Amino acid sequence: QFDRVGFIGLGNMGSRMAVNLIKAGYSVVVHDVNQDAMKKFSEQGILTKNSPLEVAEASDAVITMLPSSAHVMDVYTGPKGMLSSGNLLRSRLFIDSSTIDPQTSRNLSASISNSNLTGSGGTNYSLTLFNRNITIFFLYLNPGRSFQRCILFLLKGQQISMLDAPVSGGVLSAETGSLTFMVGGSEEAYVSAKPLFLSMGKNIIYCGGPGNGATAKICNNLAMAVSMLGVSEAFALGQSLGIEATTLTNIFNSSSARSWSSDTYNPVPGVMDGVPASRDYDGGFATKLMAKDLNLAAVSAKQVGATSPMTFLAEEIFTQVCNEGHGTKDFSCVFRHYFSGKDQ
Ligand code: NAD
Repeated sequence: QFDRVGFIGLGNMGSRMAVNLIKAGYSVVVHDVNQDAMKKFSEQGILTKNSPLEVAEASDAVITMLPSSAHVMDVYTGPKGMLSSGNLLRSRLFIDSSTIDPQTSRNLSASISNSNLTGSGGTNYSLTLFNRNITIFFLYLNPGRSFQRCILFLLKGQQISMLDAPVSGGVLSAETGSLTFMVGGSEEAYVSAKPLFLSMGKNIIYCGGPGNGATAKICNNLAMAVSMLGVSEAFALGQSLGIEATTLTNIFNSSSARSWSSDTYNPVPGVMDGVPASRDYDGGFATKLMAKDLNLAAVSAKQVGATSPMTFLAEEIFTQVCNEGHGTKDFSCVFRHYFSGKDQ
């Protein structure tokens, strides 16, 4: 259904996701503000464009994978953004996989699907109304007298949809096409986009209306952060009280404290092989990204007046870890934070 797919944001995640779309047989068009990122694709014969608008004009669907809400807004509504033209776009589906706040996702989705006159003058206007791309032609009859205006609405019959579809899984999952997508937006758009998601991920979960994908993502990462803090704090206390971390891990993993943070991603160096803690917290999920996601959760909690004390505390601790110079280390390095200023 979507033969030509645009991809904007060719960073750590996006470059790998775009490659998987290409491998799946889609004709991909790419854009990034970083020319070096684009060069890697143009050298492989992949079509590159100089602006988001050019990508939207050349694609049936566009996927964005950008650092933050501000970048997403720029790519959609900025001067050369995808929605900046008065003309009908070829693109019928916009998918944003960046991790951003649910409110921005909802606003963007509403501005795409609500009435949105984007004509640039003259006698031919394009607008989106009730999710349809519509072209209006103004025909002026009997000029010189009171104008009798004949307005023709041409329903293009093409629905324009927006999905927020952030991902869980890091660079490795992006590379191996095993990401989890949490998708918000209309169910119809989700169904039509599923083959695209399946070429980049394994688990595709429909979360409900616009913004719900973004909500699922920040809630998942909030729970993950708080769990990692709880496990780290317990291990730090256990260590201070003299119990071996491996012994405590065995206890946790066979009793009620068992969690992903204790049995799969243990934060204590030397307890598990193959986890960031056993390679000086290199690789994995960067603390600065966790701090960013917790900030999105904290801002969202304030917006809706939710009672979220752990959210604010977790945001504060992970931000502090970044300020201590560990922003690029895996977020499980928060375990070390419990010993900062002490001999471990
Ligand atoms: P990144 O910084 O590596 O890549 C972002 C890319 O966007 C860069 O290439 C940058 O040049 C480009 N960009 C920025 N502004 C642009 C603009 N206006 N127009 C076009 N291109 C622009 O980030 P990433 O690690 O790939 O993460 C992308 C998103 O995915 C973030 O929202 C992040 O929170 C989320 N995420 C990341 C991971 C991870 O492990 N890296 C995991 C899950 C989710």
